[in-house]
Amino acid sequence: MANVQSRRPLVLVLGGGFAGIGAARNLKDADADVVLVDAHDYHTFQPLLYQLATGLLEPSAVGHSLRDLVHGQDNTTIHKDSVTAIDLAAREVRFAELAPLTYDYLVLALGAEVNFFGTDGATEHAFPMYTLRDAVRLKEHVLGRWEAADKDPSLIEDGALNVVVVGGGPTGVESAGALAELYRGDFAKDYPNVPQQKARIVLVEAGPEIFSMFKPNLREYAEKALTKRTVEVMTGELVSSVTPTRVALKSGATLEAHTLVWGAGLQGNQLVQSLGLELERGNRIGVGPDLTVTGHPEVYALGDIAAITDAKTDQVLPQLGSVSLQSGEHAGESIAGRLEGKEPKPFEYRDKGTMAAIGRGAAVVQMLGGRTMKGRKAQVAWSTVHLALLPTNEDRAKAIVDWAGSALTHQRTGRITVGAEADQRSET
Ligand SMILES: Cc1cc2nc3c(=O)[nH]c(=O)nc-3n(C[C@H](O)[C@H](O)[C@H](O)COP(=O)(O)OP(=O)(O)OC[C@H]3O[C@@H](n4cnc5c(N)ncnc54)[C@H](O)[C@@H]3O)c2cc1C
Repeated sequence: MANVQSRRPLVLVLGGGFAGIGAARNLKDADADVVLVDAHDYHTFQPLLYQLATGLLEPSAVGHSLRDLVHGQDNTTIHKDSVTAIDLAAREVRFAELAPLTYDYLVLALGAEVNFFGTDGATEHAFPMYTLRDAVRLKEHVLGRWEAADKDPSLIEDGALNVVVVGGGPTGVESAGALAELYRGDFAKDYPNVPQQKARIVLVEAGPEIFSMFKPNLREYAEKALTKRTVEVMTGELVSSVTPTRVALKSGATLEAHTLVWGAGLQGNQLVQSLGLELERGNRIGVGPDLTVTGHPEVYALGDIAAITDAKTDQVLPQLGSVSLQSGEHAGESIAGRLEGKEPKPFEYRDKGTMAAIGRGAAVVQMLGGRTMKGRKAQVAWSTVHLALLPTNEDRAKAIVDWAGSALTHQRTGRITVGAEADQRSET
């Protein structure tokens, strides 16, 4: 069995998202070798994926080289590879290409993945919003549909320009709002011969209201802001099946739409099912107050893959960037401390509020004590919190330049097709 040539303890970090990077960075000065493995060579900033999908940001503003993030961290090695199996009893991890590694400490930060809840045709035809590739694929598909409709107007009647967005949570609402601004702003000018009013954006939510996690005043505001941007909000509706050109609803109605964006559900990374652990709701690994897995004090589960109970509220924390980053930083610090013989402290989450952006000048924020904000003030708070979460100053500068440019010109400069992602649906 191969292992890193080392006499020092090996901390193996699986996943280079918020949680994995947070952990690895806080192990910078630890007397250990740190190996971080991710299927990609970049860190994905998921909260801004919808801005990439709608041409506001470039891929390099949303994905950042993982190697770059640990420059100057001499004890850390990055490998681009897929984790294929984890044996907690043997303390061994297997990969697609790398030789197996045995660890002293394991950081499980593999995130979550889309959950289609068994919806017929969704795996093949829906557009999820979870990875950089998903966002680029969606953008290129939508641009492809507009180009096709511009050449053949009969496609418009068939629903080529219509988009159904599933899920009235932040991912669905943010995507629908941004698509509406792309359609009614840039595309109205780009395709003057295409009748705008025939291009529909429909948000479908199973519950009675969108934004169920927010207070009623914010829900009402969000629905009005979407409607003002021409998004049709359908509540109490479930998508039952999807084909390349049609979306069937449980009520029996069918929507003609060549694009279905899925923002309705997540589940912990599939690999967790093979760990032999009892899993919590949504396929998440339950952890103790110190973020370790029961019976495995050497294993930390963090971020979206974990069900972390907030010590203050006794509630399971939501799958958020701030929870992931803070849990990662806490684990890194705890492992570094344990290597020096220090007693680890329990994790304490610092809540920065729950927030979502609906469009230009329209956002909602709900603070821990129940205070709420909406409109421009909320958008400033949203931007500040998200800039702070970005991994480097270079990324912050890129986002600020793109946001400022778009605020001044109302243009989304990234609306070009590079063709890197094969898109089966636009070829139908
Ligand atoms: C569209 C969208 C919008 C969001 N908006 C917000 C927001 O506005 N504010 C907010 O706070 N949070 C938001 N979130 C949630 C936030 O992005 C997540 O909570 C956070 O990214 C989770 O971090 P993580 O490190 O646990 O997992 P991830 O960031 O998902 O990282 C997991 C890493 O593991 C890697 N990986 C997975 N499987 C394997 C494997 N088998 N082998 C090797 N590597 C693997 C992946 O490549 C990935 O890099 C949003 C999420 C989405 C999807």
